[in-house]
Amino acid sequence: MKIIMLGAPGAGKGTQAKMIAEKYGLPHISTGDIFRANIKNGTELGKEAKEYMDKGLLVPDELTVRLLLDRVAQDDCKNGYVLDGFPRTIPQAEVLDQELSKMGEKVDYAINVDVPDENIVNRMSGRRACLNCGATYHIVSIPPKKEGICDVCGSELVLRDDDRPETVQNRLKVYHEQTQPLIDFYEKKGVLRSVDGTLPMEEVFAAITRILG
Ligand code: AMP
Repeated sequence: MKIIMLGAPGAGKGTQAKMIAEKYGLPHISTGDIFRANIKNGTELGKEAKEYMDKGLLVPDELTVRLLLDRVAQDDCKNGYVLDGFPRTIPQAEVLDQELSKMGEKVDYAINVDVPDENIVNRMSGRRACLNCGATYHIVSIPPKKEGICDVCGSELVLRDDDRPETVQNRLKVYHEQTQPLIDFYEKKGVLRSVDGTLPMEEVFAAITRILG
């Protein structure tokens, strides 16, 4: 099963993607996580991506697509995957489609986690991330057991640079201009399913599992 997560930054698609991946035994592939790992390891790719990420802009398609196609060609993706944060532009979606159709495959579901803009900025300022293992929390809705410390690996939690209010506004603008058109794109293909992302996390997940079966 090949699943794509759509939704504004901070809509909770990453959290849902991880839960789906676990329940259905699929790899969770987050292009943002891959970029952050590269930044942490000081790679050339990381240096290039950081320039864009810190401004709330998208990393250029060429770079992102190459990275994603390499990842989904790996063995653990044979039975499908959950893509979290890819595609984010129509050209990215088109390349993915073309690559899949070469293998007689397609995206099975595009799950849109729907949250109005008004809710987004508040959500993002409460978000905390572990830069070591990629786990994400929210100071109110998904707090870690011990304040400021990752439950999974014990590292310190931070407010990501790109979750700061001034960057969030930019990310929302970029989302509306470049990513939201994907909702129509997948609707036309008959694979779009929307869930109400303002509900508690467990209820959003229950709605998703009703869709995926
Ligand atoms: P995320 O963790 O998915 O919110 O991604 C964080 C940042 O990484 C985004 O704001 C972009 O700068 C970059 N990024 C992640 N995925 C993509 C993508 N598919 N295309 C372009 N940039 C991306």
